[in-house]
Amino acid sequence: MKKDKNILQDSFGRDHAYLRISLIERCNLRCSYCMPEEGVQLSPKSHLMTYEEIYDIAKTFVKHGVTKIRLTGGEPLIRKDIPIILEKLATLPVELSITSNAIIIDRFIEVLKTNGVKSINVSLDSLDREKFKHITRRDQFEKVYNNILLLVKEGFKVKLNAVLMKDFNDNEIIDFINFTKDLPISVRFIEFMPFDGNKWDMSKMVSYAEVMDYVNASFTEEQIERLQDAPNDTSKNYKIKGYKGSFAIISSVTNPFCDSCNRLRLTANGQLKNCLFSATESDLLTTLRQGKPIEPIIKKAVLAKLKVRGGMNTIEKLQEPKLHNNNRSMITIGG
Ligand code: SAM
Repeated sequence: MKKDKNILQDSFGRDHAYLRISLIERCNLRCSYCMPEEGVQLSPKSHLMTYEEIYDIAKTFVKHGVTKIRLTGGEPLIRKDIPIILEKLATLPVELSITSNAIIIDRFIEVLKTNGVKSINVSLDSLDREKFKHITRRDQFEKVYNNILLLVKEGFKVKLNAVLMKDFNDNEIIDFINFTKDLPISVRFIEFMPFDGNKWDMSKMVSYAEVMDYVNASFTEEQIERLQDAPNDTSKNYKIKGYKGSFAIISSVTNPFCDSCNRLRLTANGQLKNCLFSATESDLLTTLRQGKPIEPIIKKAVLAKLKVRGGMNTIEKLQEPKLHNNNRSMITIGG
């Protein structure tokens, strides 16, 4: 596919080759750090992108240089037409991947393989069944755990995402790392980030430095190996020598990686977000439904992207509720 004039380059020279598409606002878990307790106002079904619209919008992005698409949500696998969406996107020249809580992923092994999905990110915040139930408000630990083992057995590249929260799961950091001893997975510790309604508070967050304090207290300097991070990687990667897997830290709060950001996000109701933390959105779906080209809107949105974290360039700004609540809840952005 011929790449057209670069409308995906922002005013800081960052090229955007990675599109994350949220397929649905609903989820089969209720993680407290992701959504408010009372739930979120869901968009009417008619406001959500159909699979044809997802394909049309994705095709436009690919035409302009996107080479990687990740499907997310809500929980992308509870969308009924997920097999068709995968099938259509698999016809584009992109690396296709998915982020899921893995509760029902065992039903989709073949469809994922057939459509070239090789890499799957699974969210798991605790290796303890009761804690899992507490944070997700659902008793599904075993399903997720067994499905992680199944994905590895089936040959998928698996990354586990664990959002760390102080006095909740920070005492499991070493258990998670030991989980990589015999399993070729990458556990990624994510700094807890603020979004609308998730009761974020800096004191609940476990920082990159604090994760490394736990690691340094349990392993010797010779055992801890710093790995080469991939270009545009959001994570700082490590492994314990001799372990099959690795671990990483995603430090969006204390050590943002905005300089090399190459991501754009499309919400399930067709809004383009130029940054996870942006307060503004650009309506691609309405324009598409009017039969007009979406490129001018994409171009404008990309050029409007701010240098760091949607304008919250300091931790002080990130801590201001009026700034970080000026965004959606993560469940409706698509993490
Ligand atoms: N349902 C899928 C899942 O569970 O992976 C995909 C959607 S979920 C919103 C995507 C990712 O966002 C998960 O890995 C989750 O841990 C992360 N996430 C949600 N809220 C977050 C927060 N406040 N801080 C950091 N990560 C968060």
